[in-house]
Amino acid sequence: MKDIHNFINGEFVATARQFTKHSPMDHAPIARVHEAGRDEIDRAVQAARAALRGPWGRLPISERAELLKGLVSAIDRRFDDFLEAECADTGKPRSLASHLDIPRGAANFKVFADLINSVPAEFFESPTPDGRGSLNYAIRRPVGVIGVICPWNLPLLLMTWKVGPALACGNTVVVKPSEETPQTATLLGEVMNEVGIPAGVYNVVHGFGPDSAGAFLTEHPGINAITFTGETRTGTAIMQAAARGTRPVSFELGGKNPAIVFADCDLDATIEGCLRSAFANSGQVCLGTERIYVERPLFETFVQRLKAGAEALKIGCPDEEGVSMGPLVSREHQNKVLSYYRKAAELGATVVTGGGVPPMPGHLAQGAWVQPTIWTGLGDDSPIAREEIFGPCTLVQPFDAEDEVIRRANDTDYGLACSIWTQNLSRAHRVAAQIEAGLVWVNSWFLRELRSPFGGSKQSGIGREGGVHSLEFYTELRNICIKL
Ligand code: NAD
Repeated sequence: MKDIHNFINGEFVATARQFTKHSPMDHAPIARVHEAGRDEIDRAVQAARAALRGPWGRLPISERAELLKGLVSAIDRRFDDFLEAECADTGKPRSLASHLDIPRGAANFKVFADLINSVPAEFFESPTPDGRGSLNYAIRRPVGVIGVICPWNLPLLLMTWKVGPALACGNTVVVKPSEETPQTATLLGEVMNEVGIPAGVYNVVHGFGPDSAGAFLTEHPGINAITFTGETRTGTAIMQAAARGTRPVSFELGGKNPAIVFADCDLDATIEGCLRSAFANSGQVCLGTERIYVERPLFETFVQRLKAGAEALKIGCPDEEGVSMGPLVSREHQNKVLSYYRKAAELGATVVTGGGVPPMPGHLAQGAWVQPTIWTGLGDDSPIAREEIFGPCTLVQPFDAEDEVIRRANDTDYGLACSIWTQNLSRAHRVAAQIEAGLVWVNSWFLRELRSPFGGSKQSGIGREGGVHSLEFYTELRNICIKL
């Protein structure tokens, strides 16, 4: 079993206290993770502060950007190591991780390294009473030491989505990966050293949330801003910690995302898109679709086509040929998802397909597997329609009118994403503009342009990241006024 250490000031740090990471595939122990206490977190924050004042803070922007671009090729050289680590921690298919998680994990450094070199400056000339005038210009300065708290569903990708812009803007970071996925963040420490990123710029501390590394990090007064991706209720706890010291937060939180399918859609493309949005990464995608509203004339056909697609998904281990769905990340999460499967049945849902645990051979029977599941026959008030399950499951319901479906799609505490499927362009624009969510896709899902704003409305988040919006969070503007 391998040891996963903290990464502090450019060194791997063991601790006396450790916890075991289990494989999602068969629950076998795969790693001993060294848990950071308050002392390690303090050391990490101090190292980050020293790097900010020292070598990193003094680097010209162009050199900083070049170092970050070096990370892209360095991750590429270690591609197989990252792939193996990510698949071992999450159980996701290699095909998915090799197309999404690892390349995007690397691309996040390039996008922001490019962007930081081309930030426009604000500049104003103003009159003064003596007639000589003044010049105002604003410069962007790093915010300081950023606390980065990450979830387990897309571990490397979501972590570098924050670390990339934070470092590009000249900050230093202390990252707390999810306790379920400690490996790739730690591996990135090795790559940081290989590339020559100065010690203390990137630090990783391992542990849990409350009364552990997560809470110790957010409570630490040396953290200047907190960026967090995870559950909405965790966001509430972190916001309370951030309030001490009035530190800014950027939150990417949960969702209960609808898809709206009009009868005039391209049905093949819609089925393909809805299968991906409901079942990709075993439904553990914040942007995933757990509610599908289908215009009534298409309803029965749609349900049968979606069922056939779900039943054709091959469930298995990451490196099995043709696998499209792995296990859930942990037994704990499996229990949560299965509790919703039971609840749906108790509430009288029609289980179109799935609803339980797939039969798995031998030791795999110990793993966190669940079936892809489709329900119909439950109303908008049911917990199945309202609560984020974060599993490979979706509730399909019919609708009759455009106004009705907009109201129902918006009838949620969340507001992260929505996809609209129609061939009618006017309707697509009209509906998209009325959806209360940070991201709306038309005839697609999870098409991402990294320079565009990403984030959620309502309880799905605070702020936007991506492109210049990340730069807004990770920098502070300083106005300099010169009397001429
Ligand atoms: P989680 O909130 O349970 O944990 C996320 C991280 O927060 C972990 O590292 C955890 O250890 C830490 N944490 C927990 N309690 C804490 C506390 N009190 N103080 C500090 N840190 C604490 O989320 P998860 O189960 O890892 O991830 C799934 C959730 O993430 C889902 O709700 C999903 O929708 C959301 N998510 C959102 C986005 C997005 O972009 N909006 C992306 C991915 C995942």
